[in-house]
Amino acid sequence: MNPNYEAVIGLEVHAQLLTGTKIFCGCSTEFGNPPNTNVCPVCLGHPGVLPVLNKKVVDFSIMMGLATNCKINHNSIFARKNYFYPDLPKGYQISQFEKPVCEHGFVELETGEGIKKVRIKRIHMEEDAGKSIHDTGESTLVDLNRTGVPLIEIVSEPDISTPAEAAAYLKKIHQLVTYLEICDGNMEEGSLRCDANISVRPKNQREFGTRTEVKNMNSFRNVERAIAYEIERQIDILEDGGTIEQETLLWNADAGKAVSMRGKEEAHDYRYFPEPDLVPVLISQNWIDEIKTALPELPGKRKQRFIDEYGLPGYDANVLTSEKAIADYFEKVVRKTNHYKTASNWVMGDVAAYINENKIDISNFPVSPGNLAKLINLIHENVISGKIAKEIFPEMIKTNKDPAIIVEEKNLVQITDSGELEEIVKKVLAANPSQVEQFKAGKEKVFGFFVGQVMRETKGKANPKLVNEILRKELSK
Ligand code: ADP
Ligand code: MG
Ligand code: ZN
Repeated sequence: MNPNYEAVIGLEVHAQLLTGTKIFCGCSTEFGNPPNTNVCPVCLGHPGVLPVLNKKVVDFSIMMGLATNCKINHNSIFARKNYFYPDLPKGYQISQFEKPVCEHGFVELETGEGIKKVRIKRIHMEEDAGKSIHDTGESTLVDLNRTGVPLIEIVSEPDISTPAEAAAYLKKIHQLVTYLEICDGNMEEGSLRCDANISVRPKNQREFGTRTEVKNMNSFRNVERAIAYEIERQIDILEDGGTIEQETLLWNADAGKAVSMRGKEEAHDYRYFPEPDLVPVLISQNWIDEIKTALPELPGKRKQRFIDEYGLPGYDANVLTSEKAIADYFEKVVRKTNHYKTASNWVMGDVAAYINENKIDISNFPVSPGNLAKLINLIHENVISGKIAKEIFPEMIKTNKDPAIIVEEKNLVQITDSGELEEIVKKVLAANPSQVEQFKAGKEKVFGFFVGQVMRETKGKANPKLVNEILRKELSK
């Protein structure tokens, strides 16, 4: 990036809430049902019907507000956001404009340069629109199952300065909604959606530049790519003496670029006004306190507990608690083994590598926490070496078999019989007289060669500590 400029970024994140029913009617929010089956006169926008607010939506909004250090407004109102679109049957979306449910919060991000604070401007409640399905030949079909599914929109202040910070911010929001269990956080399926407002300005300029909005980035990586792209595009225009047009762009991940969707002239004027069919939402301090008391353990607390309870280094605790599902998996493992640090190494190492490589969720990881714990115990009981464990692990992934059974079937039990190892060590030394000579002349490095040879003879089954001891003994003779 051109060092004479800096970027200013604000994110608007929509999170689909995990309520059983919609925000203003009793229809199910279940995903994947046949089109237009989760509908009723209310969410279809028939004339004469009245919305009734789902209390759970307010509960979830308060939870997110508390988790992001917001002020919870005791008096909050809904508004109509008017626009015409086929998947919006009422011709308006019920959202919040003035007096959103939460305001003035912040989150803290851990970056390479320390803690970065990003202020939250507001969190508001709204209903989702339906889905237009364009890829069915000539006509466009409309599925209204999603119409009226509850969302919260989390709007940041323009405090974000780089694409990486934007991704880190989004990960933080993802982490919080999943810890709170108010949203499944699935970006590919659109349960968590992010729009980015981006502007650039010459360094040392106080005023913000003209901003554009980029939509349609459905992964952390794409958020980072799209923002980097848009920053470069704006700087190029300014460097060429041009001006930035205020517009909305659509990110195309395949093409690696953002294309204009609508300019300022086509920008919507939503004509917001207070929703006359809903009374204000009055939130008592008591209600807020109750929710605060019942709040689940959040990432910061859990990290500290991992340090205190399992004696893990801060680094491990941070990595393990970065995603709730990973922290949950780890805690299931350590229910069955007391070797916490080894468990941490396996989860952060081999397990994480496998799920990242195969792009799967840890909830779909084939090795059960119980079997991983058994593997760890086998190592610590000296039944197998760490090296053999690494060989067994892929087999466990394939079959999720009990590791003890694999060890037996493949005859991998560690050789801890010192008599047997002594024989092998002697054989190795006898077969390599020149190396023995070198070692005795002071070439310490050759020691590793002997260890390697013994391991080869035993197909990796020798207990490494014993091998070391016996080798030292025999070589000093
Ligand atoms: P609007 O009401 O027009 O949507 P908001 O003030 O609510 O505008 O801001 C929407 C988003 O745009 C927020 O996330 C905010 O941080 C961000 N934003 C505002 N001004 C700028 C700017 N100049 N550059 C980048 N982002 C901005
Ligand atoms: Mg906005
Ligand atoms: Zn309905």
